[in-house]
Amino acid sequence: MKCCRFCGAEASLIKAHVIPEAFFRPLREGGESPLIVAGAKGILPKRAPIGIYDKELLCASCEARFSPTDSYGVDVLLTRFTNHFEPVRQDSQTVGYAGLAVDKIRLLEFLVSILWRASASSQPFYNTVDLGVQEQTAKGSLFGSPPIVSATFDAVLSVWSESDDDRIPTTALMNPHREQWDGVNAYRLYLGKVVAYIKVDQQQFSEPFASLSLQASGPCVLVARSLTGSNDIKAMRKTALTSEANRQAFHAARKRT
Ligand SMILES: [Zn+2]
Repeated sequence: MKCCRFCGAEASLIKAHVIPEAFFRPLREGGESPLIVAGAKGILPKRAPIGIYDKELLCASCEARFSPTDSYGVDVLLTRFTNHFEPVRQDSQTVGYAGLAVDKIRLLEFLVSILWRASASSQPFYNTVDLGVQEQTAKGSLFGSPPIVSATFDAVLSVWSESDDDRIPTTALMNPHREQWDGVNAYRLYLGKVVAYIKVDQQQFSEPFASLSLQASGPCVLVARSLTGSNDIKAMRKTALTSEANRQAFHAARKRT
């Protein structure tokens, strides 16, 4: 029997999600679980969905501890986004969104909880995430009441602007991507229309990101970004195409058996 990665107990482990399942749901077609393409090459379509859950991560009681934070993140960033955020306009253009009542630290806790799970997970979709010694710091930042997240972690959020009529689905989930911002280590996490740039570093973000971040005071702000012309669009297009090829291969394989 495997040990739960969170509590360490030997227990029967459940199908635990890293990125909550709700963010994958728009990718479903005809009730099928989506096939997600990891950035790593050579991952063959399997008869089980890739990247959706990990059966070697959490026991049922630990999974339940993640649940309220997950619900909050899904509610704010996905299902009731328009209830939480008002558009910020400049010269009739939407340049961002502001959420006055959003609990920024709780939202940061949600993002850190995803990073912890991604780091502890052995799923190929998440193999770009390795928090190393900060895995303990991430764990220690979870489930406080009220939530208190270590200053090692902070995040800036962006949202793909709605004026884009490019037909690339922004719901295509790409695997997390590691990068540096002015020498500050960060991960880019794709959550539907929202992209989170999460700092894992004792250095602070530099301006203008520092004042837009979740650890900063003031309302929760998301910067609107145009997908057209961004570096992400190429990767997203490739992901969407490979995902479709994988989906077809999956169906063909299933028909043969
Ligand atoms: Zn456990």
